[in-house]
Amino acid sequence: MKALPFDEILGQERALAILANALERDRVSHAYLFVGPEGVGRETTALSFFWRLLCEKGRACGECKPCLKFLRGVHPDFYVLKPAGKSIKIEQIRTLEAKLHLHPVEGKHRLVLLPAAETLTREAANALLKSLEEPPLHTVFVLIAQTSEALLPTIVSRCQLLRFRPLSTSQVETLLVSRFERDPEEARGLALLCEGSIGRALRLSEKGLLEELHRFVAAVSSGSPTQIVAVAEVFEALKEKEDLPLFIELVLLWLRQGLLSHVGLGEYPSIFPSRPPKSFIVPACGEVEKAFAALEANLHVELFFLKLLSTLAALWREAERAEVSPVGARAA
Ligand SMILES: [Zn+2]
Repeated sequence: MKALPFDEILGQERALAILANALERDRVSHAYLFVGPEGVGRETTALSFFWRLLCEKGRACGECKPCLKFLRGVHPDFYVLKPAGKSIKIEQIRTLEAKLHLHPVEGKHRLVLLPAAETLTREAANALLKSLEEPPLHTVFVLIAQTSEALLPTIVSRCQLLRFRPLSTSQVETLLVSRFERDPEEARGLALLCEGSIGRALRLSEKGLLEELHRFVAAVSSGSPTQIVAVAEVFEALKEKEDLPLFIELVLLWLRQGLLSHVGLGEYPSIFPSRPPKSFIVPACGEVEKAFAALEANLHVELFFLKLLSTLAALWREAERAEVSPVGARAA
């Protein structure tokens, strides 16, 4: 995630216009809440906004001293408060508050970013609320969350709320090609899969999960026990890397995109493995969704997937039989 000039941020024109307007009229709020899905530019926008606030010339020139420090990540008036473990704790808020009572070291602003505000513990949120109610001079907070419901209403009411929306398929495609140097065919496929989140598109392509999906589908469609065993083994490793939930979502996207294309409502991405037979899709979704509960319950991953893959293989065979003999299927 890095700061960009406002005109290079795609798809969030409304939020950017509000921020640009505040900057130009010197009417910056002391706290903003950026709400929207992951990977659509919330953090990039926050950083870009802070960049303009810190710049001596007020326009993110990239050449003055504060700009250079900010871009190198060493500006002394910029704080990022990330979860320590799974949550942002009250001690972290207290340490921050102590610093906020000092004067800004260099510029006229002190900037605080909470990229995962929904992880504030209740105590931490209440402590932060005090700072939001009586903001220390010169301080600007940006809180980022997926939804405002995930935060205390008292926090939400102290912030100016800006909504961030999923990007369009073509915006994701453009960004993947121009900024992230993906080849056009891959970009098209990823754009269809990522539900408007460039962050998700990048994670899918960087973690090799599409390759795993190809192996997964090959095992299911062939029903070969050796392939099923080999694929099930991989899941233990995926779990270690915490990639399993994303992979399960990818399987569900593959099924969804298959269904959409069967009924003529969507394109089937060429980077996907073979399209699932139509009558396979709905029962398969039901089976795959059970994986989320299995993960929560911390079941034995390899065994769970052995069973899942075998069930899916049986469903696939059945669906194929139904599709090659439609007369028989109708009679039954
Ligand atoms: Zn500058």
